[in-house]
Amino acid sequence: MATKRIVVITTGGTIAMKRDIHSQTIEPSASGKELIDSVPDIKQFADTELIEFANIDSSEMSPQMMFELSRLIRKQLARQDVDGIVITHGTDTLEETAYMIDLLHDSPKPVVLTAAMRSFDDPGTDVPTNLFAAVKVACADVCRGVGTMVVMNDEIHAAREVRKTYTSNVATLESPGYGPLGIVDEDHVIIYRQSLTREFLPAKKIEPKVMLLKMSAGDDGSLIKFAVKSGAKGLVIEGLGRGNLPTPAAEETIRAIKTNIPVVLTSRCFKGRVLGIYGGSGGGKKLHDAGIIYGGDLSGQKARIKLIVALGLVSQLTELKKIFERQMY
Ligand code: ASP
Repeated sequence: MATKRIVVITTGGTIAMKRDIHSQTIEPSASGKELIDSVPDIKQFADTELIEFANIDSSEMSPQMMFELSRLIRKQLARQDVDGIVITHGTDTLEETAYMIDLLHDSPKPVVLTAAMRSFDDPGTDVPTNLFAAVKVACADVCRGVGTMVVMNDEIHAAREVRKTYTSNVATLESPGYGPLGIVDEDHVIIYRQSLTREFLPAKKIEPKVMLLKMSAGDDGSLIKFAVKSGAKGLVIEGLGRGNLPTPAAEETIRAIKTNIPVVLTSRCFKGRVLGIYGGSGGGKKLHDAGIIYGGDLSGQKARIKLIVALGLVSQLTELKKIFERQMY
């Protein structure tokens, strides 16, 4: 007998796609009901309640939509009769949505995102396995207080750490440098560790106009200049290695900081933190002395989400610095 009540919120993604015979492409078309009905065994674990938020490819998911979704999730979490939430989503921007949701709630109830790499009607689809695993995690008492999780391929990942790493493989999600929080093994949900760097930012609004720029050898800073000119309210620069930039890009970055635009520095490396240990005109030390904010170990796309949320809370550079760098020392 099911004892838990789980709200399932659908947003689209391959998990809800079927092949269109005319275009021979896969398109969002499966309804939330079809998804839930495809795994009758869910009923043994939970009574589900369905909310269809959207049915889009997640490349169309915007920060504003993520914010609206987070608001909806908080509302459901506040209900006494609800034990957990499952959100179905596309894998392309799953890591960003998961992280925004995580930053914006502090409920101990499990919030679980899941997705699929093979469409609903694919003969080898991973839809039922992933949806079922996500419901099991949302029902598991051991997952209370763990924060927002992403479940796919029988692994449980922390929203803050997870990344899409493979364009097509079902084992696409990884948490580079950390590994999964746990696993789903048949009906058992095992948590091996927790992410201690989880944060709650109670923002009532967001600032979506934050741009992410990736550095490469010889970057001349022209994209940074363009971003400032086009009215960016914040920049995230995915720098090289420990957080260094080619000199012309560093000069343009410092110019941007002088105009009072918050600039967060991350690394294009998959693992490790940025830190100004290198001198030189494009070295991280010079950038930090000029006011750049260290993004720690966050990926560029997650640092952007954090800046979007943080700018909804505070606007002073010193306050933003506190939010980003408080876990660094
Ligand atoms: N393009 C799809 C999406 O992100 C990919 C997926 O769901 O796996 O919506």
